[in-house]
Amino acid sequence: MKKALYLILIVAAALLLFSCSFFGGGGTEARTEAVPDSTSTSPVTEAPTMEATEPPEGTETETEVPTETETATAEETALPGPPEITYDVNAHLGSKRVLIDAGHGFADPGCTSDYLNGVYESQITYEVATLLAQKLTEKGYEPVMLRGTDSFPSVAEIRAAVAELGMFSRDDILYENNIFDAYERTLWGNVIHRRNPVALMISLHVNALPTAEYVRGTELYYTVDNGCAEPSAKLTAFIETKLKTAFPDTRLRTEGCVWNDSYIVTKWTEMPSVLVEMAYATNPEDAELLFDDAWRDKYTSALAEAIDSYIATRS
Ligand SMILES: [Zn+2]
Repeated sequence: MKKALYLILIVAAALLLFSCSFFGGGGTEARTEAVPDSTSTSPVTEAPTMEATEPPEGTETETEVPTETETATAEETALPGPPEITYDVNAHLGSKRVLIDAGHGFADPGCTSDYLNGVYESQITYEVATLLAQKLTEKGYEPVMLRGTDSFPSVAEIRAAVAELGMFSRDDILYENNIFDAYERTLWGNVIHRRNPVALMISLHVNALPTAEYVRGTELYYTVDNGCAEPSAKLTAFIETKLKTAFPDTRLRTEGCVWNDSYIVTKWTEMPSVLVEMAYATNPEDAELLFDDAWRDKYTSALAEAIDSYIATRS
C-alpha cells in the first residue's frame, strides 16, 4: 500500500513539474492562451457595413454612454478565441519597425456620420496613419503600413503565409463576407511580425455612437491577457500621458481588455499593441477636429513621441 502511495505521489509531482514548464513557468518565452468562454456576451468586432452605424467601439463599461445597441451587436459578432497560440513574446524587443494599422479599408469603409460630409473612417485613418508614419521616419523608425490604399492580401496569400509559418488561423472566419476585417488584419500583422519583427502595432480608428452624439474624445484599448500584455500596458500608458499633455481638455478613457470584452487587434496580436479610437465621428466638435490639419499634426506628434519614449525604455 505504502509503495503504491509513493508511486502516485512521484507521478503527481512529475506531472506538476511538466505542466509548470509547459505553461510558461520559469521565464520561458512562449505563452499558451486559455480558451475563452464563448458563451459570454462581449468580444466586440466591428461590423463590416456600409452604413453609418458602426458599433460603438468599446463603450460597454462607459457609464455615461448608452449601451443597448452595443449589446446586440456584441452577441451577433461574438467570436471564440484561438484554442492555443504559441509565439515568441519577446520578438518585438530591439526592433525599430512600427506596424501601423489604419483601420478598415477596401470593402469595409468603417463608420461615418452626417458631420463627415460623405467621408468614411477608412479614409481618415489612412491619412492620419500616413502622417504618423512620416513622423516616425523623422525619429529614425521604420514604419510599416499594414494596409495600402488599393491592395490587400488575398485569402490564398494569408493561408500560404499561415501554413509556412506554422500559425493558427480560423478558416471559418477568414474573409467572411469578403472583408479584410479585424481578424484578417491581425493575422496579417502577425505574419509581418514573424517574418521581420516589429516593435509594436498601433491601430487607428474613428469612433461612432449615433445614439449619444454628445460623447466625444479619445479611447485607448490594450489587452491584459495575452503574452504581450505587460508591454502593451506600458505602451498605452505612454500614449495616454502624451495625449493628456497635448490635449488636456479632451476626454480620454483607457481600458485594459480581457478576452471577453477586448478587440481582436489587441488580443490576437503577437506583439505589443494598442487600439486608438481617436475621436467620435458622431460628435460635431470631434468630427471637425478629424479634418483639422493642426489637430492631426499635434495628435500624430503625440503618438510618435509616445512610441519613441516607449521603445527607448524597451531596448
Ligand atoms: Zn473602426
